[in-house]
Amino acid sequence: MMSAPPDSNDLFVGVDLGGTLVRAGLVNGQGHLLEWQSMPIEARQGPQAGLERIHGLIDCLVAKTDRGSLKAIGIGSTGPLDRERGTIQNPYTLPGWEDVPVANRLSQAFDVPVALENDADAAALGEFWLGAGRSVDRLYMVTIGTGVGTSFVERGAVYRGIQGAHPEGGHLVLQPGGPLCYCGARGCMESLVAGPSIMRRARELAAKLPHSQLYAMAGGDLEIVDAPLLMHAARAGDAGSLGLVDQIAAEIAQGLLNIAVLFLPNVIALGGGVFENLDLFQPAVRAAFQSAAAIGPVDKVKLVPAHLGKRAGVYGAAYAAIQLSANSS
Ligand SMILES: [Zn+2]
Repeated sequence: MMSAPPDSNDLFVGVDLGGTLVRAGLVNGQGHLLEWQSMPIEARQGPQAGLERIHGLIDCLVAKTDRGSLKAIGIGSTGPLDRERGTIQNPYTLPGWEDVPVANRLSQAFDVPVALENDADAAALGEFWLGAGRSVDRLYMVTIGTGVGTSFVERGAVYRGIQGAHPEGGHLVLQPGGPLCYCGARGCMESLVAGPSIMRRARELAAKLPHSQLYAMAGGDLEIVDAPLLMHAARAGDAGSLGLVDQIAAEIAQGLLNIAVLFLPNVIALGGGVFENLDLFQPAVRAAFQSAAAIGPVDKVKLVPAHLGKRAGVYGAAYAAIQLSANSS
C-alpha cells in the first residue's frame, strides 16, 4: 500500500526486461504515459552490455525532463531474481546474467531508488493499477502463453510467500499421472494447456485423424499444427478439433476454479496468446464457477481479459517504483 499519493510533477520509469526485448516507459503518478522506448536486449552480449542498453533507454526517456522530477525506477524482469538484493540471476533466458546487481547499478546512475519485481508480478500490478483490476480490491492474473504464469495482487500489494515467491497456480495438478512438466509434476495446468502443450496435443490429434479439416488446413504437415490452427479448425466446425478444444476448456475451467476457490479475487485477469480465443473457453469457466457457488461467492469472481497487453509490465514496474518512492520518502 502506498503511504501517500505521489505529487503530480513526480515522474517514474518502468522497465520491462524480457529475454529478447527491453521496454521502458516514463509515467507520472497518475499513470499517464509520457514517453515510451523499446529495443532488443541482445542478452547474449552479456550483462554489462545489457545494463548499458537499459541505462541508455532510461537516458532517452528522461532526456527532456528535469532530472529532479524522476523519483524512482521500477524493473519487471524475467526471473529468477532476488528482489531484496535487487539482482537478476537468470542464465536461462538471459545468458550470462548471474547475480547481476541491476537495481544498485541503476540506483547509482540515476540517484533514485530502484524496485525489482518478477515480470509476472509486474504485469499483475500494472493490470491492478490501470487495467483489468482497476477499481477492485483483489486481482489474480493468469497468463497462458509458452507457460502459465500467475500472480495475486490485493489492494496494490503483491501477495508474497516464502522468499517473496508468488502463487504458482499454473502448476496445480489437474490430471494426476498426466503429461510431465518441467516442474516435476504430471498433469499440472501448464503441462496441459500452455501453448506448447496445446500444440503437442493438436499434432497428436491431427496424426490420428488424417481426414480431418485440421489435417487439411495444415496441408498434411504436422509441423504446421499449433494452438492457433487448432482454434481455427474448431471454429470451422472440425469435430475432432472441437472435441479437443472442449477438453482444454474443461481443464482451463478446473484450473481457474481452483484459483477462484482459494483466493476469491474480485477479478481474474486473463492474458497471453491462448486467451486470444477466450470466447472458446469462457462458457466452461463460467459454468464451473456457477457450480461452485455453494462453497463461497465463487460465482461472483469476474473473468476479464487483460487490458494492457505488452505495456502491463512497464506500467506495473512504474507502480512498484511509485510504491517504493512513497515508502522511502
Ligand atoms: Zn508444472
